Amino acid sequence: MGSVTESGWERFEASLYSTTSLLVFAEGESLVVDPAISKDEVAAIALRAQELGAPVRTVLITHGDWDHVCGIAGFPEATAVMSEETGEKVASGAAGEAVQWAAAEYDIVPAGAPRIDQTFRRGSTVSLGPFLVETFPLAGHTDDGSGFRFRELGLLIVGDYLSADEFPFGTSPAAYRATLIGLIETLRADPPDVVIRGHGPPSGVADALAIAEADLAYLRSLHTAVGAALSGGDTSDEARAAGLAVDLPRAAPPDLEEMRGFNVEREIEEILAAGT
Ligand SMILES: [Zn+2]
Repeated sequence: MGSVTESGWERFEASLYSTTSLLVFAEGESLVVDPAISKDEVAAIALRAQELGAPVRTVLITHGDWDHVCGIAGFPEATAVMSEETGEKVASGAAGEAVQWAAAEYDIVPAGAPRIDQTFRRGSTVSLGPFLVETFPLAGHTDDGSGFRFRELGLLIVGDYLSADEFPFGTSPAAYRATLIGLIETLRADPPDVVIRGHGPPSGVADALAIAEADLAYLRSLHTAVGAALSGGDTSDEARAAGLAVDLPRAAPPDLEEMRGFNVEREIEEILAAGT
């Protein structure tokens, strides 16, 4: 191999939550999506990029959760790029506070505080060095999320959606359902070669579709169960019990169990807000 590599990508997996960092390289430079998690894990990604003869010039972020912004500081020379909405979370200091909290909680040494150098409007196509990146909104898990399409490389990057290790949870079940419907349509009508998830290994289109459909079925069942209870005059406690009785789409780690109740609370909030 020569000093300048061909274009391609490599996935790195952090020890916590099987978190994905994706290194994409072409024309002697790299872009890294969500470098994570510890300072040492992030440094290893930077080193690999150097080995490839393609130093990291761009850091691209899917959303503002701490495990996705904690590695930005490991690339002080690169341009840190994210959606306007994620940029607000970083600029407000909220994302940095979450990184500090997590460092203590999980006994991790992070690379440092996140920063923001450049934003994009979700839906726009951005040119980042040699990479043409199609961006699109991914709302529901958080309201600031972005997905990315690297069309020449056949990659669809979906942040914390379509995970085989988790079940869907987040700030808005309604937005999450709409996002899954959009992802299912994309996977069918405009399929990538590979789907890159924020947690867990890459998948093909068929596997990603199966997860998307199971996740959507779960969120729809949750919506109809809670909705039926509330419209039938049940109390919030009865609606809560009805929501908690809905089966998850797959077994989930015990530390996510509380998110099941969190989903029910968000569902009750959304349904009652719609009626006022
Ligand atoms: Zn995450």
